Amino acid sequence: MSIAEWRTQLTNGNVSAKELVEKYIARIEKIDHTINSYLALNFEKALLQAQKVDEDHSLGIKLPPLAGIPFAIKDNLCTKGIPTTCSSRMLENFVPPYESTVTQRLWNAGAILLGKTNLDEFAMGSSTENSAFGATSNPWDISRVPGGSSGGSAAAVASGLCMSALGSDTGGSIRQPASFCGVVGMKPTYGRVSRSGLVAFASSLDQVGPFTNCVSDAAEVLQVISGADCLDSTCLNVSVPDYVGSLSKPIKGLRIGLINQCFEQKGLSTKVKDSVIQASNLLQSMGAELINIDCPFFNEGIATYYVIAPSEASANLARYDGVKYGYRSKGVDNLSSMTSSSRSQGFGSEVKRRILIGTYALSAGYVDAYYKKAQKVRTLIRQDFNNAFEKVDILLTPTAPTTAFKAGEHNEDPLAMYLSDLLTIPANLAGLPAISLPCGFDQVGLPIGLQFIGNVLKEELLLQVAYQYEQASDVMRNKPSSDFIP
Ligand code: GLN
Repeated sequence: MSIAEWRTQLTNGNVSAKELVEKYIARIEKIDHTINSYLALNFEKALLQAQKVDEDHSLGIKLPPLAGIPFAIKDNLCTKGIPTTCSSRMLENFVPPYESTVTQRLWNAGAILLGKTNLDEFAMGSSTENSAFGATSNPWDISRVPGGSSGGSAAAVASGLCMSALGSDTGGSIRQPASFCGVVGMKPTYGRVSRSGLVAFASSLDQVGPFTNCVSDAAEVLQVISGADCLDSTCLNVSVPDYVGSLSKPIKGLRIGLINQCFEQKGLSTKVKDSVIQASNLLQSMGAELINIDCPFFNEGIATYYVIAPSEASANLARYDGVKYGYRSKGVDNLSSMTSSSRSQGFGSEVKRRILIGTYALSAGYVDAYYKKAQKVRTLIRQDFNNAFEKVDILLTPTAPTTAFKAGEHNEDPLAMYLSDLLTIPANLAGLPAISLPCGFDQVGLPIGLQFIGNVLKEELLLQVAYQYEQASDVMRNKPSSDFIP
């Protein structure tokens, strides 16, 4: 059921919020030991919240838009009184004293928290294998990764363990796992959604966004979490359009750009390429115009990102010093050894690698050669997009070069892992909104995702085009079978 359908069921009295939450809890208890999408669970409070929704409903009180909708939240978003670990030993016992803006907005809208979801430590990774609390599996094939870093949220939505989830996307961490798990995932424009209470990874790139089963649900969730926030100075003070209301507009005459550089990638699987081309043909048959576009700097995205993101991460993660909060190593007798041994024991190896790269790129002798140069290339990437949006309304690419890979496949080769974000990173560097949705399956039945990238604050258009595509194609009706359930 979509959120809108569920709302109708609830208002007609066909099902209660408590019944719905109980169903999800039972399913989590039955299958999540296989998927490992959840870390902390919140069942007791969830049931109480659901009861409150049912009481309000029986008293005739008007229900808010997400009343009774069961949510999962990536464990790098602060939830007051509920552990928020970032899948790191460093924050294993951290219980935030405040709530993030996005989650507060969900609870104000009546949504219910089922639990917090697994991620790559501090959102660094593309497979959810870099978690201190075990890897998450892909529900389409449990020998494969769900993508990352928001793999727990993506796998939870895909396997019916929540109705919707939030993730964060710094270089692709919502869209790539959405693609691997066959669900909808959206990264809004930088500044569209508040980052207050999102544990910082790379502050000029991070954005929060939804994972959902369908595009209209993504519109509903984005509607609730978007908009100005005095707690985040980078959050834009502009009005939020009616995302849901615009979905049904037809796309006749829309100019869709196909970025040449994306389709010429060496690592792009033929099945992924064919599937996205087929999707573009369907859009053309619906009245859209297809235009080939050059973005010459598109492929510099990865190299640029892996200077800028670790640089910002090395500054952000300096706060974990064993003093203010987080893990503190015992049995050391001076401040400097305490800090270094807390970090060495508290952080996993990928996080350490990023801190080392970032500290190096920012150090006095190298800042011009690496960090400043990367910032210049970032501007060129943004200019490529600006030029493209003079000719087209929206861009279409595959979300990831391949479908879900096997667990452990890239363990020995971090660069191969980094390449899985080749097609998602440029939108983060340029601050643009982008959405991934399923468009087909590969030869072994794994979902393939397509990505639409829009100009700044064009979420309304992105959702409309994605919705129109979703209605015209039938791939979204496929769900993973529950064969993995013992
Ligand atoms: N996979 C990318 C990285 O490892 C992106 C992560 C993200 O978007 N949080 O940095």
